[in-house]
Amino acid sequence: MPTETFEFQVEARQLLQLMIHSVYSNKEVFLRELVSNASDALDKLRLEKLRDDSLDADVSDLHIEIDVDKEARTLTVRDNGIGMSYDEVGQLIGTIANSGTATFLKELKEAQDEAGAEGLIGQFGVGFYSGFMAADEMTLVTRRAGESQGTRWTSRGEATYTLETVADAPQGTSVTLHLKPADPENQLHDYTSPWTIREIVKRYSDFITWPIRMVPEAADGDTAPEPETLNSMKALWARSRDEVSDDEYHELYKHISHDWREPLETIRLQAEGTFEYQALLFVPAHAPHDLFTRDFKRGVQLYVKRVFIMDDCEALLPPYLRFVKGVVDAQDLSLNVSREILQQDRHIRMMQRRLTKKVLSTVKDLMAKDADRYATFWREFGTVLKEGLLTDTENRDAILAVSSFATTHADDEPTTLPQYLERMKDGQDDIYYITGESRQSIENSPHMEAFRAKGIEVLLLTDAVDEVWVDAVGEYEGKKLRSIAKGAIDLDAKGDDKADEEREKQAEEYAGLLGWMRERLDEDIKEVRLSARLTVSPACVVSDAHDLTPALENMYRAMGQEVPRTKRILELNPGHPLVKGLNQAYEEREDRTELAESAELLHTLAVLAEGGQPKDPARFVKLVADRLERTL
Ligand code: ADP
Repeated sequence: MPTETFEFQVEARQLLQLMIHSVYSNKEVFLRELVSNASDALDKLRLEKLRDDSLDADVSDLHIEIDVDKEARTLTVRDNGIGMSYDEVGQLIGTIANSGTATFLKELKEAQDEAGAEGLIGQFGVGFYSGFMAADEMTLVTRRAGESQGTRWTSRGEATYTLETVADAPQGTSVTLHLKPADPENQLHDYTSPWTIREIVKRYSDFITWPIRMVPEAADGDTAPEPETLNSMKALWARSRDEVSDDEYHELYKHISHDWREPLETIRLQAEGTFEYQALLFVPAHAPHDLFTRDFKRGVQLYVKRVFIMDDCEALLPPYLRFVKGVVDAQDLSLNVSREILQQDRHIRMMQRRLTKKVLSTVKDLMAKDADRYATFWREFGTVLKEGLLTDTENRDAILAVSSFATTHADDEPTTLPQYLERMKDGQDDIYYITGESRQSIENSPHMEAFRAKGIEVLLLTDAVDEVWVDAVGEYEGKKLRSIAKGAIDLDAKGDDKADEEREKQAEEYAGLLGWMRERLDEDIKEVRLSARLTVSPACVVSDAHDLTPALENMYRAMGQEVPRTKRILELNPGHPLVKGLNQAYEEREDRTELAESAELLHTLAVLAEGGQPKDPARFVKLVADRLERTL
């Protein structure tokens, strides 16, 4: 087949441009990325051969090799792993499939300045392409295990790349970088120097479980020198804490997560006894962009006795800890264990319980010892963690203990439940909360009025999951969690005779109006009553104590479930002039067309005030416009 020239996909081209004019200061990480890809390719081949013994591939000496040629100014990273077919090279190297990358490029366009762009590269990591930080041309020769022909890919990182078939490619992949001139001022070192290569491999890739060899250049006339293995290959999780530096842990994190930034927290666990395993887990410092998408790849890497078995092993952590990355190495599992078996394995379930508790206790420690880092954790992952309040009843208390919530007590500092309990007023029996879309909309909602007037703290819950877990959890330390937008609320001290008397009098006065309004608004409202929660607004709508809130109804509908429309309760503020006037008009006039419209308007205003939508916006606008017109 002749050499064919292809255009890069638009996104890939933009990314390449960025790499070539690299604004990323730490350029040597390209080697880490190429070694990381090579290591993955070796893992994949070993597994494939294990599954299919007839695969025509040599797995007797799997390794990575780095060659430098000072004269030609090239650096080659070679592996004898799985390789890629002709089509795969086009797909994997010519395009950017990763959904995070599309987001990355969008943000990149918006971040015009260099500092912003550098931050973004670090945030997303861009694997293979990072080679163009050091090279002005890259060549990749690869042969897929089991295939006879290989493929050569070349590019100068501009608009195009070429592909051609090669007859005699060795098994695996070699990537050759035609290096740019060294430019130490811009962090571009001499990558043909064995000393530099040795340093970089040691720093970023020491833990790689395959040998990384370097063959020094032979001086003229010498016999070929012995290859030197650059990495210790020691599994970090099997080494004791004081033997491993934080930097080494962090490099392992970067290798497995494809994140270029430091993790927030490193968690070690060594389980001994009948079922022995070691775990090295990481909490990232930032939530990935696709954390809430269906195809988010969750799970940690599973090893058995130092041998890589699978990526994204979901069985080891519950879905609400899906952001945790890391490695779990078990001693007594079969090397060809499958996902299906793992899901049912008793030992795996025990590991999951232990790892879950360990992660939660780490967060608890973080909370106690480092408020800033805990705050970062909660900002990035609090929403996901709260899913566990619904799904993991065993750890519910542990999750609640590390949760925090926005509160009316402070503008920008969330509160924990124990802190809330400490601030509760004398005689306050419940923990009050309100759910809604944003802090602003719920803070200004009429439901809040009496609480504000009395200085009673309310938790402001704005995540979709909040609508659900509060019902499931019900109470904390014997105190009920109560929505201030549900059921009857009476904050007046009990047994206050004067207040009771006043209320009875009002109930009598308003009985006629309330009954009449209930009939008028029958389609939407099941009860009209006088309110103890309003101080400023004329009216508000509330849900009955055990009814679905409008937000939950919408959520179920969005999930395709049929739910009947729930009628709500309209509460009127008997102290408000508008409500007083309405009552007077009700008693004085026989013709009630206008009054009916007023009742309807009052109801719609109450819906709007809690951030809802009028049922018939056109009619609402017309009624208001008519009234305005009459006041002119
Ligand atoms: P990432 O490693 O983050 O997926 P890369 O751009 O580095 O992104 O690589 C894209 C894909 O190309 C890899 O996921 C892998 O499938 C393939 N690939 C890269 N390098 C190699 C290699 N040395 N051997 C086999 N496949 C490779």
